[in-house]
Amino acid sequence: MAKDVIDSLENMKLTSEEEEVIALPDEGRKEEIEKVVQDTLRRAWGMDEGMHIVEVGSNLFQFKFKTEFELERVFEGGPWTFDNQVLLLRKWQLGMTAKNVRFDSISLWVQIWDASFDMVSPTVAAEIGSCMRVVEEVEKRHRQDGQNLFMRVKAAIPVAKPVRQGGFLAGLDGQKMMTTFKYERLPMFCHYCGLLGHDIKHCANYFMLTKSGKEVQL
Ligand SMILES: [Zn+2]
Repeated sequence: MAKDVIDSLENMKLTSEEEEVIALPDEGRKEEIEKVVQDTLRRAWGMDEGMHIVEVGSNLFQFKFKTEFELERVFEGGPWTFDNQVLLLRKWQLGMTAKNVRFDSISLWVQIWDASFDMVSPTVAAEIGSCMRVVEEVEKRHRQDGQNLFMRVKAAIPVAKPVRQGGFLAGLDGQKMMTTFKYERLPMFCHYCGLLGHDIKHCANYFMLTKSGKEVQL
């Protein structure tokens, strides 16, 4: 079936009309793409033209909101993905420029599973979360809220390090137990090297390994 399709395409001759090249001025095309991006973001965030989007560098945009409420709503509502890529956001601070702004982490809610029931508490959640660098928020739930199967923390996950699958926890009796992390709304992530930003099909490390004919266990 696939072979048939290839054959028929190869044998096809372009008509003179199809051979005509439609020239798009670069400037016009760029503006067109920018407009699509801006409209899509505005729609996703429920904003109107009052939110200004300014390109301040390569793949770098500044968003100006009308109110702090709108800014917080977008910031807290993340992570946002666009065209399968995550949109990393930073709040502007005094002295921040297009050159010195760093996008080295992403804020995600992490569920911590498999801790014994007596260990499930916001304090323990904060403790475990600290191994993920910066804990931004800890969900406050109490034991009487019913059976809590997992704890939740919002943490700044470094984008240049493999995403952690879990961590050890020492119980009161000194016994070590392995907890499992589940990430909420985890953007594109590589199941081979654990890094954010690409999938296994686009992983250079995985490609090199499979090219050498090795069996890879995932
Ligand atoms: Zn990879």
